[in-house]
Amino acid sequence: MTTRRAACSCGQLHLTIEGEPSRISMCHCLECQRRTGAVISNQARFRREQITFAGKATTWMRTAESGKPATFHFCPTCGSTVYWEGESFPGYVAVAIGNFADPAPTIAVWEESRHFWISLPPDTPPKRGEAGMTICVADY
Ligand SMILES: [Zn+2]
Ligand SMILES: [Zn+2]
Repeated sequence: MTTRRAACSCGQLHLTIEGEPSRISMCHCLECQRRTGAVISNQARFRREQITFAGKATTWMRTAESGKPATFHFCPTCGSTVYWEGESFPGYVAVAIGNFADPAPTIAVWEESRHFWISLPPDTPPKRGEAGMTICVADY
């Protein structure tokens, strides 16, 4: 079984994850842009029992598009968001994939707020409309 490690910038907050993600996505929504400071967020979803959590995290909760809360866990020292949980996906944890530098997205959402100058190669993930998605990644 594959073991992956995800860590914040300073390494204090880190996860050890066994096995494969159930979903890998990217999101163009404005909330994700504000959270990351980047123009696209990328995340992989795992079942909670696949993950061993280590280090201290500070949390911040916001209400997602679904009206349900999503809670983001970030390092109190360096500020990197490492993972989040939401009532829309109970039992699962989304992990920011930049913290692994490993899996690639398989779906894109919130194309309407995608920066116009970002053009992705033709073999990139399907857009929300194609995949039937209507919500931000905080919701799934
Ligand atoms: Zn840190
Ligand atoms: Zn989003």
